[in-house]
Amino acid sequence: MSVLPKSVENVINEFSKLPGVGPKSAARMTYHFLRSPNKDASKLGESLLEMDEKTKFCVSCFNVTDQDICDICSSTQRDHSTICIVEEPLDVVAFENSGIFNGLYFVLGGVISPAEGITASELRFKELEERVKSVLNESEKKLELIVATNPSLEGEATASYILDIFDTFIKEGKIHISRLAMGLPTGADLEYADRLTLKRALEGRRDI
Ligand SMILES: [Zn+2]
Repeated sequence: MSVLPKSVENVINEFSKLPGVGPKSAARMTYHFLRSPNKDASKLGESLLEMDEKTKFCVSCFNVTDQDICDICSSTQRDHSTICIVEEPLDVVAFENSGIFNGLYFVLGGVISPAEGITASELRFKELEERVKSVLNESEKKLELIVATNPSLEGEATASYILDIFDTFIKEGKIHISRLAMGLPTGADLEYADRLTLKRALEGRRDI
């Protein structure tokens, strides 16, 4: 027999699936909602449902948006010959908030991580290839790809993988690939980097 009602257990289970949340924190969060007099649980539920219904991934860069093609990709004010490859949508937010980058983005959806069982096939490398090919078809201009994965072992491995994918295009001189400078400390998370650190990392980007 379970001590807790099934409905409470379900919420604890859902919270414990969140990144960085263990069973104890999940239980604490659940009790917070149980005790809350302000219908916080309903508000959270409604916000999650609304987010689920209204948001999707941009068909071009895979950033989160409420349109088919996001505002960044459809903007004519931005440099369409530079694409910054990031791990997650929050990295796009970090760059946009810093106001230091005027190109486009591509969100990979993570990094290759054998330790966590994440292989290349689970990330958007195929979509990245298609995107690059379509940009090259549309414009004669040389395309710059800036690999902005986090400065971690996985981030570096992912950068090498990207380099391999585009080997032919690089040799043909159609693409130039660079990597964010290591002004970012190893193990740092891009989404938490401050404006100056991001700016230095972008300006000091090096060929790979
Ligand atoms: Zn987009």
